Amino acid sequence: MNKNEIVTVTIEDMSAEGEGIGKADGFPLFIKDTVMGDVALVKVIKVKKTFGFGRLMEILTPSPDRVEAPCPIARACGGCQLQSLSYEKQLEFKQKKVWNNLKRIGGLPVYMADNVPRDLGAAQGSDLRKMIPVYPTIGMENPWRYRNKAQLPVGYDREGRLVAGFYAGRTHCIVAQEDCLIANERNKDILDRVLSFMKDYRIEPYSEETGQGLVRHILIRVGYHTGEVMVCLVINGRSLPRGEELVKRLLALPGMTSICLNVNRERTNVILGKEIINLYGEGYIRDRIGDVTFRISPRSFFQVNPIQTEKLYTKALEYAGLTGEETVWDLYCGIGTISLFLARNAKNVRGVEIVPEAIADARNNAEANGITNAQFYVGKAEEVLPAIYEKERCRADVIVVDPPRKGCDAALLETIVKMEPKRVVYVSCDSATLARDLRWLGEHGYETKCVQPVDMFGQGVHCEVCVKIERV
Ligand code: SAH
Repeated sequence: MNKNEIVTVTIEDMSAEGEGIGKADGFPLFIKDTVMGDVALVKVIKVKKTFGFGRLMEILTPSPDRVEAPCPIARACGGCQLQSLSYEKQLEFKQKKVWNNLKRIGGLPVYMADNVPRDLGAAQGSDLRKMIPVYPTIGMENPWRYRNKAQLPVGYDREGRLVAGFYAGRTHCIVAQEDCLIANERNKDILDRVLSFMKDYRIEPYSEETGQGLVRHILIRVGYHTGEVMVCLVINGRSLPRGEELVKRLLALPGMTSICLNVNRERTNVILGKEIINLYGEGYIRDRIGDVTFRISPRSFFQVNPIQTEKLYTKALEYAGLTGEETVWDLYCGIGTISLFLARNAKNVRGVEIVPEAIADARNNAEANGITNAQFYVGKAEEVLPAIYEKERCRADVIVVDPPRKGCDAALLETIVKMEPKRVVYVSCDSATLARDLRWLGEHGYETKCVQPVDMFGQGVHCEVCVKIERV
């Protein structure tokens, strides 16, 4: 296989990142923008020892599972890696990705369960009873327009127009994406107003290249149930000239609840800085999950897909198996979403989270919802929990973890095992690190019982998972 060679490839599999995989003369190639079942004409762009990469030139025979990507810039943007795959197959792709990671990385005896999640009782073979089901992905009714949050860089496009969108691959140019199909319809009007305000008052966007300019990103959050809107401009400075005029223009839009600035003067690709300056409102919006109302500040984490979040937390609640008597810990608790969702069914819940504003939100959320049996702690879960355990020697009945992509810290897992909970519920956004942690827990007396993928990110390759784990 040589670079620049043109080959015909039948796509037989897909990688975790959503690239099609097919063989040319027995040599595996990863090819972006192809889906399982396509026959494609491909140009080889990179050759390694045992595999290579190809660029799609032409689809010769489309896969029966291929659909036309509705977004005209899907290929350039790359945020929706699965747009060309039917939604049904996307859900299957995610179930398989989770299964594959748990098997390969976690060494777990998992199998792909069929569409009716059933109890593997006596009716099944005894070997099957030891196997762990990975259930079919719980999907969305409408996998479009679901995101409640958008963070767009601001800058100039190739023609020198001021736009908001995404960075064109490996450049400092921005491609306009002001009406993303997985984002809220309201974003477009908001972005139009911010950009025209910037043009009218000659406010420069920040340049990654030079570190000059003011406006870096526009962050928008919309409360799904409440319709409340937050607009936060991330700026390379401490004030926005004519900020009052921006407020006036944005307030003409419905639902505008919070308008603020976030100060980020570092030369970094981290989007948000620490300081928030309010221009209008209290500095947060509200939304509901189930019948609990949450206040959400700009720097607080909140799941991006509100409808699926409710399904995910309902699963977590089911797996927690609460009767009202349990002591529960919710680690990586954010604004207390899972904690408060569980609190009404438990004796008490204690949450730990690293972002101080999120804990302020969590405490406020408990109070606003009349929940008195929840306490929250600021700090790293892997430091706070061991410290409290050392001091109190406390036990837990159920522990929930919901870490960021890198998974749980080893010190945290060790403390969890010492606290001897009957059950652990693991909510994960990365099944590779989940697999690593489940393997460790398995070696320390905690058996994985079942695995439920939930699709929070339709059109994209990421997959959320909820796992029930029990003490042997
Ligand atoms: N359970 C919440 C938040 C999950 S996201 C929800 O469903 O909304 C993961 C959270 O972990 C984020 O809020 C992040 O700020 C927090 N976090 C990241 N590293 C952490 C650490 N080492 N200790 C505690 N919290 C951490």
